[in-house]
Amino acid sequence: MPGSGAARGICRSIMKISHIGIAVASLENAIQTYAALFGNDNPHRERVDGQRVDVASFPVGDAVVELTAATDETSPIARFIAKRGEGIHHVAMEVEDIEAELARLKAAGVRLINETPTEGAHDMLVAFLHPSSFNGVLVELCQKKS
Ligand code: ZN
Repeated sequence: MPGSGAARGICRSIMKISHIGIAVASLENAIQTYAALFGNDNPHRERVDGQRVDVASFPVGDAVVELTAATDETSPIARFIAKRGEGIHHVAMEVEDIEAELARLKAAGVRLINETPTEGAHDMLVAFLHPSSFNGVLVELCQKKS
């Protein structure tokens, strides 16, 4: 494995797509909808207090589709839905060293939403990059803890 990525021009500091976050108004309704898509009516569920969201996660191959609903109206998800409606909210990339990636991207002129990582779902550290830096796409970096 080591070496092959560089040879093919694959980014090695960003390892893979971790998950796609979908903003939903009702987690219960969305779980029913996506249960039909994935043939799985028992997604992993958790509350992420720092982001003020409830999350339901459906594994899809090596990645995850995360349905994300606001727990109160100050949640970023509530603001997103008020402005743009339900839909794809962010794409998350798993990295090995989130602090190093934030420093690298900041130096490259990328606009960071989070200068330092915060607690995310699945026991990961997360930080968001501003959509204005990536063609309107909100990008999340995440790193597994431990
Ligand atoms: Zn996420």
